[in-house]
Amino acid sequence: MSMTQTRHAPAATERTENFDVLVVGAGISGIGAAYHLTKQCPGTSFVVLETQDSFGGTWHTHRYPGIRSDSDLYTFGYRFKPWTTAPIATSAEIKHYMGEVIEENDLGPHIRYRHRIDTASWSSEDNLWTIEATRTDTGETARFTANFLWMCQGYYRHSEGYTPEWDGMESFKGRIVHPQNWPEDLDYTGKNVVVIGSGATAATLIPAMAEDCGHITMLQRSPTYFRTGRNAVELADELRALGVDETWIHEIVRRKILHDQSVFTNRSFSEPETVKRELLGAVRSYLGPDYDVATHFTPRYRPWRQRIAFIPDGDLFQGVRSGKASIVTDEIERFVESGIQLKSGKILEADIIITATGFNLNVLGDIDFVIDGKPLVFSDTVTYRGMMFTGVPNMAWVFGYFRASWTLRADLVADFVCRLLNHMKEKGVRRVVPSLRAEDKDMKLLSWIDPENFNPGYLMRGMHLLPKRGDKPMWQHTQDYWNEKDEFPAINLDNEEFVYG
Ligand SMILES: Cc1cc2nc3c(=O)[nH]c(=O)nc-3n(C[C@H](O)[C@H](O)[C@H](O)COP(=O)(O)OP(=O)(O)OC[C@H]3O[C@@H](n4cnc5c(N)ncnc54)[C@H](O)[C@@H]3O)c2cc1C
Repeated sequence: MSMTQTRHAPAATERTENFDVLVVGAGISGIGAAYHLTKQCPGTSFVVLETQDSFGGTWHTHRYPGIRSDSDLYTFGYRFKPWTTAPIATSAEIKHYMGEVIEENDLGPHIRYRHRIDTASWSSEDNLWTIEATRTDTGETARFTANFLWMCQGYYRHSEGYTPEWDGMESFKGRIVHPQNWPEDLDYTGKNVVVIGSGATAATLIPAMAEDCGHITMLQRSPTYFRTGRNAVELADELRALGVDETWIHEIVRRKILHDQSVFTNRSFSEPETVKRELLGAVRSYLGPDYDVATHFTPRYRPWRQRIAFIPDGDLFQGVRSGKASIVTDEIERFVESGIQLKSGKILEADIIITATGFNLNVLGDIDFVIDGKPLVFSDTVTYRGMMFTGVPNMAWVFGYFRASWTLRADLVADFVCRLLNHMKEKGVRRVVPSLRAEDKDMKLLSWIDPENFNPGYLMRGMHLLPKRGDKPMWQHTQDYWNEKDEFPAINLDNEEFVYG
């Protein structure tokens, strides 16, 4: 080649960057993973890839009026960064908190936004994942290799919520909106609004919109359990008044909340009828003796089979009591020009219909995975403690708790992954594959989660896509923080179920 013929710099599509660890997603789990890597695995190179244009995950995607957490931020916040204000927080407050974690720990340079990962292929020859992402701003392909994949992509598809198909939807003259894709230009002042759904989203939207709407109706097929109380933790306020250090307050209040939650969860199983009476009694105290709590707020299932949303200061019930909001428990026959025709024959008039009908479960970020040339089918794998998968090398997934804050588990999984990465380094190995032991070979394989135990719609719709669960705790996501907090740190990484290479 002559001196005048300069070699072309490789196009962005051809360049491959290498990292020790690639973290998928910049939500609460991914930012936590980045923090723990810097603290527990210093010197490990890593990158966080995120489809969206900012961090926050769930708290960035959801922008509907009133969007807030339904669990307390002392436990939804990280173990390592004190939460210092009211326990139920708005998405803006959660994002601010996460922003501080990024800034205080200089995580920003590790995060690449607008990178949607499409494919990930593992090569056992090189002990590397090759990851291809589409840059959503330029359309270019960005290619990375990494030894370990840390999946922090959550559990639902961020691009689009779940809306069932109802007859006549196209004939409705008003606007149909899913809370996950809230239109910035939606003006609901003085309008008649119907919210379909009875979960945390509907319960948040209704009090937030009630003041401005003409009227807002929650249309539910069946009721949901709610807990209610003041948006405050008395113990935290007392300790603060005494000038106790925020780090201490965070730890003490976390323990108090976790203790109280554990008592509540256990009682939901041991004395479901009493718990049910208490929950409904609290609702009744807001709505008064004449309100039909039996029809509108008494679920058909036992407490805790689905997440129980917390209603701060009973704001949903106050909206109902004031007459600005109402609850209709019925089924949809079809959509009509002016609203919704119900199975009872009644027509609910609406200018705007909001479908708070949930998520589309997405298994591992809608990424096409290939292992040594063979497409990976996750439902053919068995989960190792709800965080790794048999036959899948060098990958961990953060899937939090349903009955306790997600982040409690994100911190525990992070400790485990960091310990595993350090262990591999010490052993001088570059591959770990969870594998069934001889005594597990005939183990009964079950669905990811027991529907008798927990059964929200998005999980039921997507269960066939999820990895299998074994009949021993080691091969399950037990959903039990109290055991996992002691068990995870005690896992012997040289046990037979970890096959190194
Ligand atoms: C409205 C709402 C309220 C909730 N409130 C609570 C609560 O109060 N308490 C609680 O414990 N849980 C709550 N949850 C559950 C909540 O989703 C989790 O607790 C938690 O926020 C999940 O965090 P995450 O980082 O694991 O995943 P997410 O928040 O889902 O973030 C995942 C990120 O990964 C990115 N991503 C996904 N796929 C790819 C890909 N292929 N390439 C690149 N990036 C990708 C996404 O864009 C997203 O930013 C709530 C959920 C919703 C929807």
